[in-house]
Amino acid sequence: MSEYVKSFLAGVKSKNPNEPEFHQAVEEVVDSLSLVLDRHSEYRSHKILERIVEPERTITFRVPWMDDQGEIHVNRGFRIEMNSAIGPYKGGLRFHPSVNIGILKFLAFEQVFKNSLTTLPMGGGKGGSDFDPKGKSDNEVMRFCQSFMNELYRHIGPNTDVPAGDIGVGGREIGFLFGHYKKLRNEFTGVLTGKGLHWGGSLIRPEATGYGSVYFAAEMLSTRRETLEGKMCLVSGSGNVAQYTVQKINELGGKAVTMSDSNGFIYDPAGISAEKLNFVMELKNLRRGRIKEYTDHFPAATYTAVDPKMDHNPLWDRKASCAFPSATQNEINGKDAANLIRNGVYCVAEGANMPTTLDGVKVFLDAKILYGPGKAANAGGVATSGLEMSQNSMRLPWPREEVDARLRGIMKAIHSACVTTAERFGTPGNYVNGANISGFLKVADAMIDQGLV
Ligand code: NDP
Repeated sequence: MSEYVKSFLAGVKSKNPNEPEFHQAVEEVVDSLSLVLDRHSEYRSHKILERIVEPERTITFRVPWMDDQGEIHVNRGFRIEMNSAIGPYKGGLRFHPSVNIGILKFLAFEQVFKNSLTTLPMGGGKGGSDFDPKGKSDNEVMRFCQSFMNELYRHIGPNTDVPAGDIGVGGREIGFLFGHYKKLRNEFTGVLTGKGLHWGGSLIRPEATGYGSVYFAAEMLSTRRETLEGKMCLVSGSGNVAQYTVQKINELGGKAVTMSDSNGFIYDPAGISAEKLNFVMELKNLRRGRIKEYTDHFPAATYTAVDPKMDHNPLWDRKASCAFPSATQNEINGKDAANLIRNGVYCVAEGANMPTTLDGVKVFLDAKILYGPGKAANAGGVATSGLEMSQNSMRLPWPREEVDARLRGIMKAIHSACVTTAERFGTPGNYVNGANISGFLKVADAMIDQGLV
């Protein structure tokens, strides 16, 4: 790491105290960018790094709402509008008690590079609230979403900022948010993506992140003339991304053997078949239950409770060839990464955002496995949101096959951009450098073209 980059990182840390996830995301990107800054002094003279880590706008607001018993609660709402150099801000909303400015800044920062990689014209943003939808009734969730939108609506719009879902924000929440935006603005526009199919949503959007990360894994495996056929796969999470990851693994002939939630994971050595996945979808999307219930219905599977205070997660300590972390940030640490490799895993595609700590990333890179970082591997979700925006602008829905073919084409394009950029900068096979540099160049050049704004 050069002296310039070291002192830049020290500046970011002192200027943004108590935001460890943001520091981590910046460090990972800037480490890759050392290679670019050595060759291109214009990025330094235009102070691109200093500008790209500073959100264009940070919005925080009060979200008061009333529960079913008539009690009043107050949560915090946020929207980070990080960078609009190549298009309107675009990125999801997360509802989870852990949400704070630092977490959303890391997500918004990652989003800038990811959106650039998709080949579509989208800037980066992210938002959400520390509201916990778990255990809330549909009416409580609706009242919360309406209160959240009472403020957010004045900051977003189809040509300004187009939010989508993330952890805790799925089809139900997008529906309530969209309905209230429409009422407040009196216009029907594609201001949110992940909408229902009959009111502006795109086919394949719910599936896109999971499908995309499996397509990305398939592309990485193809560089070794291999496919997913017959491969044992570890998947974490049991939400939107994890569910469609398992579905696509099955379709491509692989065998997914684990799924999890924040309490623990199930291990099903026979594989989570389509029928078993239907059970998980009903459990998680309709009954909103815990993954532990899986073993009541499929007794050959086992359930292991996971204590987050442990120094490793036993989910990552199982024999397999591929891993698809699809739950949350920092779910694979250095020890987990070493366990994965010891158990035979040589292909990791990140469905979640930044699921691997910096130590873990180093273990993967040193072992020279096929490691697809989230900003490349999970870009299929936002790419398909971009396709939803296009369809909304044209007021013309595309058929399922067309959206899926475009998604597959975009994942191939992202993969090949990562491979060629990593080679061009002297680190062949390093998808982290490939993704970070390739995503950065387009945004940085646009920032220079547009002057000091
Ligand atoms: P969901 O809310 O649908 O599912 C999240 C899953 O992760 C749940 O199983 C949840 O378990 C688990 N989880 C959440 N927080 C934790 C935690 N702290 N520890 C352990 N498990 C946890 O979210 P998504 O599937 O949409 O998102 C999953 C990941 O993918 C996130 O990192 C998100 O940023 C990323 N992503 C999502 C995209 C999308 O299109 N939805 C696009 C790109 C990335 P529990 O129910 O117990 O909380």
